[in-house]
Amino acid sequence: MVDHENDQAIHSHHSAASGTENPMVVDSAQGVLPHDADPSLTDAQAVADALNVDPNVGLSQAEAERRLAKFGPNELASAPPVPKWKKFLAQFKDPLVYLLLAATAISLVAWFIEKANAVPGAEGGEALPFDAIVIVLILIVNAVLGYIQESKAEQAVEALSQMTAPQTNVLRDGRITRINTVDVVPGDIIVLGEGDSVSADGRLCVAASLRIAEASLTGESVAVGKKADTLEHAKALGDRANMVFNGTSVTQGTGRAIVTGTGMNTQVGKIADLLQATEDDESPLQKEMNYVSKVLGIAVCIIAVVVLVALAITEGFNDIHDVIDSLLLAVSLAVAAVPEGLAAILTVVLALGVQRMAMHNAIVKKLHSVETLGSASVICSDKTGTLTRNEMTVERVVTPSGEVQITGTGYAPEGRMVIVDQRTPERAATEMEAVATLGVGALANDGDLRENTQSGIWEAIGDPTEVSLIVGAHKVKADRRYAHYSRVGEIPFTSERKRMSIVAQDNADAGRLTVFSKGAPDVLLGYCNRIAVDGAVRPLTEGDRQQILATVERLSGEAYRTLGQAYRPLGTASLADVPGVILNAAGHVADIAEQSDILESDLIWVGMVGIIDPPRTEVRASVAEAHRAGIRTVMITGDHPLTAARIATDLGIIEQNGKALTGDQLDALPDDDALDAVTSEVSVYARVAPEHKLKIVKSLQRQGNIVAMTGDGVNDAPAVKTADIGVAMGITGTEVTKQSAKMILADDNFSTIVAAVREGRGIFDNIRKFLRYLLSSNVGEVFTVFGGVIFAGFLGITQPGTQGVTVPLLATQLLWINLLTDAAPALAMGVDPSTDDVMARRPRRLTDRVIDGEMWGDIIFIGVIMAAVTLVGMDMHLAGGLFTDRSVAAVGHEAQMVEARTMGFTILVFAQMFNALASRSHLQSVFVGLFANKWLWGAIGVSVALQLAVIYVPFLNTAFGTVPLSAGAWLECVGLALIVLIASELRKCVLRAMHR
Ligand code: ADP
Ligand code: MG
Repeated sequence: MVDHENDQAIHSHHSAASGTENPMVVDSAQGVLPHDADPSLTDAQAVADALNVDPNVGLSQAEAERRLAKFGPNELASAPPVPKWKKFLAQFKDPLVYLLLAATAISLVAWFIEKANAVPGAEGGEALPFDAIVIVLILIVNAVLGYIQESKAEQAVEALSQMTAPQTNVLRDGRITRINTVDVVPGDIIVLGEGDSVSADGRLCVAASLRIAEASLTGESVAVGKKADTLEHAKALGDRANMVFNGTSVTQGTGRAIVTGTGMNTQVGKIADLLQATEDDESPLQKEMNYVSKVLGIAVCIIAVVVLVALAITEGFNDIHDVIDSLLLAVSLAVAAVPEGLAAILTVVLALGVQRMAMHNAIVKKLHSVETLGSASVICSDKTGTLTRNEMTVERVVTPSGEVQITGTGYAPEGRMVIVDQRTPERAATEMEAVATLGVGALANDGDLRENTQSGIWEAIGDPTEVSLIVGAHKVKADRRYAHYSRVGEIPFTSERKRMSIVAQDNADAGRLTVFSKGAPDVLLGYCNRIAVDGAVRPLTEGDRQQILATVERLSGEAYRTLGQAYRPLGTASLADVPGVILNAAGHVADIAEQSDILESDLIWVGMVGIIDPPRTEVRASVAEAHRAGIRTVMITGDHPLTAARIATDLGIIEQNGKALTGDQLDALPDDDALDAVTSEVSVYARVAPEHKLKIVKSLQRQGNIVAMTGDGVNDAPAVKTADIGVAMGITGTEVTKQSAKMILADDNFSTIVAAVREGRGIFDNIRKFLRYLLSSNVGEVFTVFGGVIFAGFLGITQPGTQGVTVPLLATQLLWINLLTDAAPALAMGVDPSTDDVMARRPRRLTDRVIDGEMWGDIIFIGVIMAAVTLVGMDMHLAGGLFTDRSVAAVGHEAQMVEARTMGFTILVFAQMFNALASRSHLQSVFVGLFANKWLWGAIGVSVALQLAVIYVPFLNTAFGTVPLSAGAWLECVGLALIVLIASELRKCVLRAMHR
């Protein structure tokens, strides 16, 4: 065990670059390892001693924590996190903000000139540059809000990355424990299995058929075999067969390694410079938003130039005031056109959506995967565990002499045999063969079944297919009869081989060896040439073969997963004596896993089992829902075509009597065109290997599909990575697959994918809703300012005494709307419950514009109406123009204009409140689900309160150029604003009629 003298044993020096320490550099005075020892040249036990760990027990938890504090977390140093103040300042790094700052400068200059030119004693400009101050204040408030929203989004992303944090199996206190990879410390014993990522550098102490892909480190694409033997002399990285390295991955076999270096002290740490925080590449949505901003910006510049030139020609610039007024107009226009709050709202809405999806077991790694998810047109799914429950139970055993049914469900080994068919008169033959079949199945097995002594519940460990055989064997007490065998080697199961074997020693028979195999019966049968019938072994005839294959088809057609069992006595106690077995230089048996050709031949067929794996109950509905949404479900499985077809039919993936295509048939296709023709039709693939998955994904993508693909094993990683939406299994998935996936299913359930698609579509819809809302506000503002100038005479929007232009609404007022009163409803729309059935339409193509023609129609229509009612409302409070308000004549032009602006300002805000309700749907009436979104009503309340404040708080009056309004004026505002809603309802009526 670990003692407290570790500090001396692992004496280390500081490495300046990373601050972590290299534990393998041990003081030679301590006599454990020479200075700078190369662990690959050192005996594994010596390495363990140097690191003060027992390879069979591992570190104690307390010692591990101590080392973690000492050596630091096991991660590559990344660029230091951006300090908060920098993040805050970054809010100002935005072309829009520069524009607004320019506006501030212009209005400052304007104020200054007014002040300087003012005739002493006469009215001449304000005491303070209010416009400039207000714009700056608003910019600060905006930065604060942006900062808060951004940190909220960051927290959400952080929480997600916690959920998907890589993990590692280590030996601690004698038990295999799963810990976060960052907590691995030098001296830990890491336990490696197929599909694991190696999370630190280490010296192997055990390796069984271990192969590791080291491309990330050495560029070598073929996985290299690993052994624990000490090397004779120093070798290059790629040839250090007894070492494993951080960042590589196990493609096959198992092993244990003593961690010699973590974090920056690993080989990748040495080559990796500081990792820059991963740059988020821009999503299509962000690109389109940038595009829209650009278009708006350019449009505004053009409008401004046109207006200025027109003014210069018609009115002429008489003095500096005219120039300033014109510039102020340009400022207003710019402010009006730009959706200032949009970017921040977009991020928050995405982050909230992704958080919601995580709560429903769909963990998306990047915010903008949500967009892709909503566009999925094909979902390719594994069968076992994803479409089915992965609760396997052996129900049938078919042997050469007959067939039995095994009763009982679940893992509890309680049940018995019932003979359902027998070809020989004595039932004993059938029973004995069934027991042998289950016995072989339980021997050639990596699973385990344990009874929890406290709860009395049976717990299964390992692959459910294997566990089901152990349960079956327990039920018929086959395990006891085969207890005298002990395993000496294994040829592992892979999805390509579809079988596995062990070599066991018979302790009751002088240690003689026997091969026990199990696998897909149609595959395994190919390696059998004998058959065991009623206690005797005879050659396998063509008739036997036909009969067995017929049984496979019959059971598969009933949705059973079939598994054949076979064995072969080797007749010797030493593998080296088996003819054909490959020996290494030292005369020992070379890697047993590579001798399948020799060992898995001449097998004796024993029998087969039919395993039932019920479909998940909720999947059928999800398949139907996906179908309705224009999404095809494709099943891809290693199982038998008939089993696959039957389950696919039960789940509604294919029609009755639909067929499954096999991997062999896929391979037989001449070219990509033929493949594409097949994949566009076929929805069930059986007996496939992982490489077929990649072919299928690529072919579907060639046809313009957005493909979601599930995977669990290490060999699925390429297909999962290539798919538009790679989906990894959270429970059964390997670390490597999880890392290549874009989404992880915490519950391995197909229905969760469909739910995530639904959620993704909903989020996307909501984004469109608030885009429609925010942009129509901007368009309304631009038209108001523009129209107010063009029709100034007509509407009476003039400033008597000056000849230049009169700005209809102040830049500060427009900013107030864009940043404050619009923001809350927009955010609330981001969590809007769907107004219509998002799964009732075809998937959106990723190339489709987010804001399409129809939506621009909505935006411009609403914008024009909004501007019209605003200008009319203003006119109604001005002495001149279309509507003449004589009552205001008394208060003077200046005051008139202030009141008219307050009116226009308020009408716009209210119009936006009605527009918020209308924007929830392009077609549906506002009254459909009017109260469904309580957040929206809350947000409207907040915005109205803000508007009341800006009108009735004296300080804000000065800052925003407003005056308190009378009750009558309020009624006018609401009434005029309501017109926007009515117009929108009418437009929707017309559109609905057209769509029908
Ligand atoms: P899937 O996961 O799509 O059901 P697999 O690749 O796991 O497909 O299995 C393919 C076939 O290999 C199964 O139909 C079964 O006959 C066989 N098989 C599955 N698991 C094992 C195992 N542990 N040992 C031997 N054979 C197996
Ligand atoms: Mg499987």
